[in-house]
Amino acid sequence: MHSLFSMTCGDLENWLRLHMGKGAFHAKAIYREVLDLGNPDFGGLSAFEKSGDLALRIAGKLEIPEARIVETAGTEDSFKFVTALEDDLRIESVILTMDRHETLCVSTQVGCRMGCAFCETGTMGLIRQLKTEEIVLQVFSARHQLKRPVRNVVYMGMGEPLDNLDAVLKAAEVLADQRGFNIPLRRQTLSTVGLVPGMEKLGARRLKNLHLSVSLNAATNALRDVLMPVNRAFPLERLRKAIEDFPLPPGGAILLAYVLIPGVNDSREDAKALTAFASGLPVRINLIPYNPGREGKWPATEDEDIHRFGALLYEKGLFVRKRWSRGREVMAGCGQLGGRPESGA
Ligand code: SF4
Repeated sequence: MHSLFSMTCGDLENWLRLHMGKGAFHAKAIYREVLDLGNPDFGGLSAFEKSGDLALRIAGKLEIPEARIVETAGTEDSFKFVTALEDDLRIESVILTMDRHETLCVSTQVGCRMGCAFCETGTMGLIRQLKTEEIVLQVFSARHQLKRPVRNVVYMGMGEPLDNLDAVLKAAEVLADQRGFNIPLRRQTLSTVGLVPGMEKLGARRLKNLHLSVSLNAATNALRDVLMPVNRAFPLERLRKAIEDFPLPPGGAILLAYVLIPGVNDSREDAKALTAFASGLPVRINLIPYNPGREGKWPATEDEDIHRFGALLYEKGLFVRKRWSRGREVMAGCGQLGGRPESGA
């Protein structure tokens, strides 16, 4: 059965033409009712008044995933929800309230095989890839079940998006459709640990408006090998080249995310190495506090650590964006999603 959440309105139109002998009129009506307005029951629409059992026949062949939120936890500015999938596996999503809008951080995999040393999800290993409709479902749930005005989407939840690139890019396309969610690519950010083949594949698609964020977290191979095992396969030299080669719109930049871990990657030497890595690259640095998970190995980053390290980079002329610690108390901070089942996730 085809899932409506894996289709753009154009895809739906083609599908209706092929399977029902109908076209754009019915496609737009269904798409608006379900994805834009959040009503999965489109049978009562005037578009179906004179069409006999057409709505029923469509509903019998077109799957509309059900939003099953099984757990929520939140503070005013960071709200986590857990979705139970068809096979009862769980994924987590986080709504972050920014100054004037809300951003949804979605998961792209159940678990993750990247094994980053500071991450709860990494302890799970990869359980399975999410399908496009399961990624889109998280936005549907946030907007229509939780009634949150989600404006931006970041692919930074559980999983490495470039390890599930086709499903993620299709989700980005569905979410961008103006007749449904209307979240254009310029309001979507894909985050990667620096999976070089995935960056090359993404670059070849030339989606110039989709933002890319690379989690760097260490600027020497010795330290990055330990924090992010992906570095052993794609060391900093290859990552740097992939960033250099990545097609960007004029004035565009890649975000370099750096999770600041006290006593691990926050020294003056680390700042020097980061400056050297970033030098000459079209990047902006995003400093993120480390959030100890359930079995956190290191202490949490304090806001003054971010200030101090940020100042070292600023001295060297780097553009730095800082994120303060938020969501930590509900295990909704960066690197805190998921975790091994026995640890209660
Ligand atoms: S930080 Fe991201 S890529 Fe690394 S293990 Fe966690 S979920 Fe995977």
